[in-house]
Amino acid sequence: MSSSLLTGIMMDRPLLIRDILLHAERTCPDQEIVSVTGKGTYHRTTYGETFRRARKLANALEELNIRPGDRIATMAWNDYRHLEIYYAVACSGSVCHTINPRLTPEQITYIINHAEDSWLFTSINFMPLLETILPDIPNVKGFVILMDEEDGTITDLPRAIAYETLLAPASDKYEWPEFPETSASSLCYTSGTTGRPKGVLYSHRSTVLHTMMCNLSASIGLSEMDTVMPVVPMFHVNAWGVPYSAAMAGAKIVLPGPHMGNGELLQELIELEQVTVGFGVPTIWLALLHYLETSGKSVDSLIRIYTGGTASPRHLMDTFLRQYGVDTVHLWGMTELSPLGTLNQAEVRTDLSYDERMDLRCMQGRPAFGVEMKLKDDVGQTVPHDGKTPGFLYVRGYAVCRGYLGPVGDENETSAHSSHDKEGWLNTGDIATIDQQGYLRITDRAKDMIKSGGEWISSIELENLAMAHPDIVEAAAIAMPDKKWGERPLVIAVKKQGSTVIEQDLLNWYKDKLPGWMLPDKVVFVSELPHTATGKVVKSQLRSEIDRYLQNNHHTKGKSPEKKVHHSGLFM
Ligand code: AMP
Repeated sequence: MSSSLLTGIMMDRPLLIRDILLHAERTCPDQEIVSVTGKGTYHRTTYGETFRRARKLANALEELNIRPGDRIATMAWNDYRHLEIYYAVACSGSVCHTINPRLTPEQITYIINHAEDSWLFTSINFMPLLETILPDIPNVKGFVILMDEEDGTITDLPRAIAYETLLAPASDKYEWPEFPETSASSLCYTSGTTGRPKGVLYSHRSTVLHTMMCNLSASIGLSEMDTVMPVVPMFHVNAWGVPYSAAMAGAKIVLPGPHMGNGELLQELIELEQVTVGFGVPTIWLALLHYLETSGKSVDSLIRIYTGGTASPRHLMDTFLRQYGVDTVHLWGMTELSPLGTLNQAEVRTDLSYDERMDLRCMQGRPAFGVEMKLKDDVGQTVPHDGKTPGFLYVRGYAVCRGYLGPVGDENETSAHSSHDKEGWLNTGDIATIDQQGYLRITDRAKDMIKSGGEWISSIELENLAMAHPDIVEAAAIAMPDKKWGERPLVIAVKKQGSTVIEQDLLNWYKDKLPGWMLPDKVVFVSELPHTATGKVVKSQLRSEIDRYLQNNHHTKGKSPEKKVHHSGLFM
């Protein structure tokens, strides 16, 4: 590009999370933030009070000798204190490292050490875990326990202080500093189901841009009229950015604390607080739906729910819309994308019939502004966007990581590993098609595809079809080794309570819907599927347990030995 380009004469203000905080303080200080506490009570505060306490916390962090760039870890639920930490840590120049407490102790130890966390803020529930790994995390200087002063410090953790004791003496006068927008603001490790978790280090710039991307009306577009309930953990990808997008929009926030998967509590919260918008993985919405169906209760205030993290079953979206008038918007994203990648506003397609629109909703949608996508085949050639040809999905954008956190202190702070191509696009590890209107359909995780006789079978397609059966609540398709074909599909399904459906019924269900070679060979029923804390089925666990189960049960095609199928946990 010619060096004679003319530079614009506009201010070059850094994009800092501080500005979201200051904007909310100026425009909606009295807007409410409601949290369910660990004790099950409701805690009410406002943006004004939250950010006043964030200033106290910023002063307290200085007292603890925490310096810009230090990583401050959290192991906490969705509540007002976690929100205060988000803002105080990032806006004072340190990095808020949210840890997924459902990872294994080994993984948690690894990421605390890898990130070189200096202080750790933890909910009371996770203290026993931290006590066991304490000898292995010698660099952590101290622990702040998220509890009231009067609860007393009931822990063996050294240098532990109650959050409210830390805050009490601190001044609420604090000037949020200005620094380069590329400074790191928060850190989240990928779930690491295949290999070591990898650290995605968000910047202030990427976070502010992502927040604006979310708040476009063509996107999620929250407003001051909304009451938003993120039922996605604040320990995973900043709860899909809701703590920032709600504040930027001035929306009321409802935080469900540790009670995320409880359909009854979610219904109560929605009704009491008049929630209009919810965010959660399909499992959360299935739990709510189950409660609504069994209790006969409703969610009249709820206008739309966002679902992602894994493909959303059609019946979930259909039932919410038909029975409860709630629009389900399907999102696709990743930790590496902050996380918004695509969203599916199928309701804009007024030219389609209800059923066609419902089919469309099953796709993951079109890219959000600021996200570009391309498909490549296995030799790196570009794949056409014809809605038919699958390829490896690559993305780039304003809020996409360009590498992962390397060993801190390394000269090369981030490393792009093999996850990025030569042009710097991120290889998502997903297989997808994109149609001419730009709609993305995720057909699989590359590692979950089933290869039978040299042909790929989409596990997501098999799962969606199973879940379209009226008696099936949830399903997972995995590959079984097969002497002749290499791999053959097996479906593991959870049936509705009281249903008498048997394996052959489900095998028949598939018959007129798929070509013969794609049909699953077997169906096994289980009482529940194992999930990660972020709502994904743990297929590695299914794979490792299924062989043993099949050998023990001499499972034969078409006959479902109902009694031999497990009754609790996984395969028994
Ligand atoms: P995570 O980084 O833990 O949020 O996981 C990101 C991965 O979740 C993506 O690469 C996809 O494989 C999967 N994923 C996210 N959203 C969807 C969706 N709507 N449909 C299918 N898979 C999804």
